[in-house]
Amino acid sequence: MSKVLVVEDDPVVQAALVHALTDLGHVVQAVGTAVAALREAGTSELDLVILDLGLPDLDGVAALRMLRGVSNVPVIVATARGAESSVVSTLNAGADDYIVKPFSAEHLAARINALLRRTGTGTTASADLLALGDLRIDLAQRLASLGESALALSRREFDMLAYLAQRPGRVISRRELIQAVWGNPYVGDDKTIDVHASWLRRKLGETAAHPRYLHTVRGVGFKLAAPG
Ligand code: CA
Repeated sequence: MSKVLVVEDDPVVQAALVHALTDLGHVVQAVGTAVAALREAGTSELDLVILDLGLPDLDGVAALRMLRGVSNVPVIVATARGAESSVVSTLNAGADDYIVKPFSAEHLAARINALLRRTGTGTTASADLLALGDLRIDLAQRLASLGESALALSRREFDMLAYLAQRPGRVISRRELIQAVWGNPYVGDDKTIDVHASWLRRKLGETAAHPRYLHTVRGVGFKLAAPG
């Protein structure tokens, strides 16, 4: 369990982040401006800061430099800009890692766990490794295997598998899974999730008619469970 400060001015994104991080077992505080973030970082013990680069009061790079002036807390920058120059300048200004929006909760969790492990705080490495029957999932490395075979999964397929594997035996609604994997707000068609489920199922070597791990719960969603 780690104390995480979310710095994000968009209330929808902020609420989604707080929800996802709380769900992962972190103690989460959220602010909407760089000034509030600096005040928080200067006064409380934090394990991690997630910093949006597009804040209303200060440029992200400037905010990061000022944050570094008051704290050595690990910082993950969340950026909507994929441009290499902005990534490089934020890393130079003292960010430990960055993540490009939009990102899934699982992707963020993997980055957080990897960073906290590197910096020696927070969650243990075992939280990154999931096992279900012959299925192994390494959240930090984003690797999955079934028996002796590595699974070649797309980003979405991995996120979907990881989210279900973290909640084994539980029926997860389509809506919850879409929000976890595609983010919120999700713009698209519900068929997308069924298509990804069928691709994932094929890679797991099973069919909807004869599922082993991935079960469709008609009219509700999906469930991942060990066979037998
Ligand atoms: Ca923003």
